Formats: sequence, C-alpha cells, structure tokens
Amino acid sequence: MLKIYKDKNASLKYLKGKTISILGYGSQGRAQALNLRDSGLEVIIGLSPKSKDRKIAVKDGFKVFSPEKAVKNGEIISVLAPDHKHKELYEQSIQGNLSSGKTLIFAHAYSLFFKQIRPPEFIDVILVAPHGPGELVRKLFLEGKGVTSFIAVKQDYSGKALDKALAYAKGIGSTRAGAILTSFEDEAIGDLFGEQAVLCGGLSELLRAGFETLVESGLSPENAYLECVYQLDLIVELIKKYGIAGMFDRISQTAEFGSYVSGKKVINRKQLKNILSEIKNGNFARRWMKEYESGMKNYKQMKKSWKNHLLQKTWERLNKLLP
Ligand code: NAP
Ligand code: MG
Repeated sequence: MLKIYKDKNASLKYLKGKTISILGYGSQGRAQALNLRDSGLEVIIGLSPKSKDRKIAVKDGFKVFSPEKAVKNGEIISVLAPDHKHKELYEQSIQGNLSSGKTLIFAHAYSLFFKQIRPPEFIDVILVAPHGPGELVRKLFLEGKGVTSFIAVKQDYSGKALDKALAYAKGIGSTRAGAILTSFEDEAIGDLFGEQAVLCGGLSELLRAGFETLVESGLSPENAYLECVYQLDLIVELIKKYGIAGMFDRISQTAEFGSYVSGKKVINRKQLKNILSEIKNGNFARRWMKEYESGMKNYKQMKKSWKNHLLQKTWERLNKLLP
C-alpha cells in the first residue's frame, strides 16, 4: 500500500536550528531554498565562484558560499546541481567536508543508485523528490498549496533519517499535498523510464511522427499541428480529472472507437522493455556520463534538431495567432 505523509505526520523540529546548505540555485535550488526559509528554517547557498546564479541568490537575500564552504558550514546538505554533475561536485566539494551526523539530501536518486556517489556510512542519506519543476514548487507554496513528492531513506545513521526527510518535505510545502514513501531504486528507475519512454521522450516522438505523417500526406503544417499537438492539454486535463476511461467518456464516440482499435498499433512493447533494461543495467547512465565527459556533441546536435524542426517553426507561427 502507498504510504502518504501529510503536514500532520511531519515536524519541522528535526531541521530547526540546523543550517541547510543548498548546492545549486536553478529550478529546484531556488524554489526549495525560498520555501524552506519561508518555513522558518536557516538556509545558505553553495555555488561555484563563476556561477551566474550567484547574483540571483544574493538578490533573494541568501548568503552564498563556495560549495566546499557550504558543505562545511551546513548540517543538512541538499544536492540540487544537475544529476550528471553530481560525481564531480561530490569528489571536489562534498566528500572531504562531510563529518559524522551530517545529512545528504537528493531530489533524484540517479547519482546514488548508479553509484556515481558512494557516501561514507557516518551520515544520513535521504531523498525528497518533488513531482514537478521548481517554478511550480514555489508557485503552489505561495498559494498555500504544495507539489507531491517521493521521499526515501538510503542510509539512516542518526536513526532520524525519515523524520528529517519528512521535515524537509514539509519545509518545501510538499506534505501539504502528500509525500509518498518509496526507495532510491524505484525512484531512480521509475523516473528515468517515465520521462524517457512516456512523458518526455515517447510523447514528443509520437507528436513529431504524427505531425510528419500528416504533413507528408499533404496537409499544411498548421493543420497537422492543430490536429496532432495543439489539443494535447485538453486531453491531459481530462485524464487527470477523470482517468483515462473517463477521458474516453468525454470525447466523441468516433474518436473513442478509433482510439481503441488504432492506439495499440503505435506502441512497441518490446522497445519499452529494452529501454527499461538499459536503465536497470546502468547502460543509459554510462552513456549519459560518457556524453557529458566528451563535451555533449550528440546532445547539442539532437537539441538543435528539435529547435530547427518544422514542428517548432509551426508552433512559433501559431502561438502568435491562437490562445
Ligand atoms: P538546474 O535548474 O539545471 O540548476 C542547477 C544548479 O546547479 C544551477 O544553479 C547550477 O549553476 C548549479 N551547479 C552546477 N554545477 C554545480 C556545482 N558543481 N556546484 C554547485 N552548483 C552547481 O537543475 P534542476 O533542474 O533544479 O535539478 C536539480 C536536481 O533536482 C536534479 O537532481 C534533478 O533531477 C532534480 N529534480 C529536478 C526537477 C525539475 O523539474 N527541474 C524535478 C524534480 C527533481 P551553475 O551551472 O551556474 O554552476
Ligand atoms: Mg527526472
């Protein structure tokens, strides 16, 4: 059964009086730092001397240190730098400055699960992974609401690791919505699979392939965009509100019947299983680290191909004309 913790199940006392060092001030770093401070907790920021995000953190009223100094000065270290940079950040700035009883917090289990970081046994290691971008974590917090999150404990040196994870989730506003207990393994694998195969990778390729099929058959790019991409948010809204079966109840019966007989044909389950095993056996993580370490040439090229695609140009034109 799912274990969901709400505000009443969490206490900030496990973090009160302790300095929380947030390493990184991007999407999650900024949102979490502001929310934790507004919850009455003490927060400092760690960024490299050349980071352009220093200015923003200072403007927001935070004290900013080098990552090493922030790790030294903090008892709770929240690692909110990009996942593929955790290894070098850990080796250069964290490892040598950890002492007994400190806590490392992650927002994604990636670097721990794929062993890019091997923390010493004398600290707590926990996960608080919000189910949404930092901008939303901040926005909902200000509205008195929160974004749900996964929480997990990897190492419980103090005997209070889960209490600290809950306190942190409460501090960022997440227990207002619900903090859901999981493991590092399930979060690492599930998150990568969900984003690669379904939510980000699978979806964008499906949209592109649908768009290209109609354009190649002679429809205008504008029409193809309107049919295959534009109405996506309406369908997603129905799914969130009523479930997939409830969405089918609310579209035309022609659309519904067509979905039942055709939808399956575009799914390749063997490939889904392949993607999952590449994640589980570490091949994906190795490939990503290799890409990063060799200068991100393929990454940049793939990014550019999406920016230059007819689909994006069509979006640019229509976005100016339609709501
Ligand atoms: P981001 O927006 O790319 O921001 C990363 C921040 O880390 C920047 O301020 C960056 O500044 C800084 N940084 C980079 N290298 C650093 C280093 N060596 N030492 C200290 N700071 C460093 O990243 P993000 O999306 O917030 O992701 C952070 C974590 O949250 C990841 O583990 C991610 O998986 C997780 N997460 C993200 C989301 C999301 O939707 N964004 C949702 C849930 C969980 P400089 O580059 O200027 O140094
Ligand atoms: Mg992710």
